[in-house]
Amino acid sequence: MSKAARTPLPERVLLGPGPSTVDGRVLRAMSRPLIGHLDPEFLQIMDETQEMLRHVMGTENRMTFAIAGTGSAGMEASIVNLVEPGDRVVVVVAGVFGVRLAEQVRRNGADVVTVEGEWGAPVDPSAVAEAIEGGDTKVVAVVHAETSTGVLQPLDEIIAAARAHGALVVVDAVTSLGGHPVRLDEWDIDVCYSGTQKCLSCPPGLAPVSFNERAMARVKERSTPVRSWYLDVGLLDGYWGQARAYHHTAPISMAFALHEALSMIREEGLEPRHARHHRNHFALVAGLEAMGMRMQVENPDHRLWSLNAVRVPDGVDEAVVRGELLTRLGIEIGGGLGPLAGQIWRIGLMGASSTENNVVLVLGALEAALRRQECAVSPGAGVAAAIGAFAAN
Ligand SMILES: *Cc1c(COP(=O)(O)O)cnc(C)c1O
Repeated sequence: MSKAARTPLPERVLLGPGPSTVDGRVLRAMSRPLIGHLDPEFLQIMDETQEMLRHVMGTENRMTFAIAGTGSAGMEASIVNLVEPGDRVVVVVAGVFGVRLAEQVRRNGADVVTVEGEWGAPVDPSAVAEAIEGGDTKVVAVVHAETSTGVLQPLDEIIAAARAHGALVVVDAVTSLGGHPVRLDEWDIDVCYSGTQKCLSCPPGLAPVSFNERAMARVKERSTPVRSWYLDVGLLDGYWGQARAYHHTAPISMAFALHEALSMIREEGLEPRHARHHRNHFALVAGLEAMGMRMQVENPDHRLWSLNAVRVPDGVDEAVVRGELLTRLGIEIGGGLGPLAGQIWRIGLMGASSTENNVVLVLGALEAALRRQECAVSPGAGVAAAIGAFAAN
């Protein structure tokens, strides 16, 4: 083994699809000395975390808590509890996370009906309604913020169709929660899951989830046991609910981090936080368009504020640009996934990464990298347009 000490990791500006920047307050919270996970002081932290999660998710659901695992574990927890073998489940698919959702539903033995759409546009809600009505649909699963395409999927018609049919609605809010409004009770969503490392600006490792009473009743009525012991919401109710009985050891340092990150959200206020995400997204788009680039999502109303998918200009090698941003300037942005690989960049403005500084920085950095590729960009146009947008908003 080499005797040389490992060189320190470089600092990065995190403008990819997650993780986002984590504030020093959250990092310091993680370095607190451990206490036991059944210590009354820790139980108090769990209570407060649940209360703050209810606030961020717009719900009074008792079963609102954090799964020990990343966003995908939240997805898995939602599906494994609600779906029984043979159930008809409608899944909305127009991106990588819709595909993953359908795969999890399939692995639970369900009869999966996918409603597919073009990658870069929302799926037509009337097609989803038709699919729901096409049989005895038990569950409808949909991604609210599709991180692979930058699309915000409208939910109201889909939820109304599910309600009319007695189907439960599962919503993936991994990239919307903390950046866009997500209101479980007002919108009548049955189960919602998220992740910590996107707009909540916490390291990855926990998955906030919420189950309403209708969903909890469905779990109780199951004719087969939940196939996952670890993610069984009935058992987790024993730990997060009244009994506070041992189920698994909570990731204590991560719990400290989430508690601190949620406290910061409460201090900022939800509406100002959403407005900040909107404003910075708007300025970034103004800058990218002024540089002659085109957004992947045509309709501005369907664009995510937290994840900006922009088309790579013709003749530009997107990986070279992305690599230069990372190694020369320490800025991380994302590339495209699946059919969009090589065709788009994904610029995340999530949580603490959503700042005016970062908008100006990434536009300037992209300009420099594009000019090195001999791509014609009028000097300063992107930054000027963003500054203009900030001044006007
Ligand atoms: C990131 C993401 C996930 C998965 O979260 P992990 O933390 O990577 O497991 C699921 N859904 C969406 C929409 C995401 O953006």
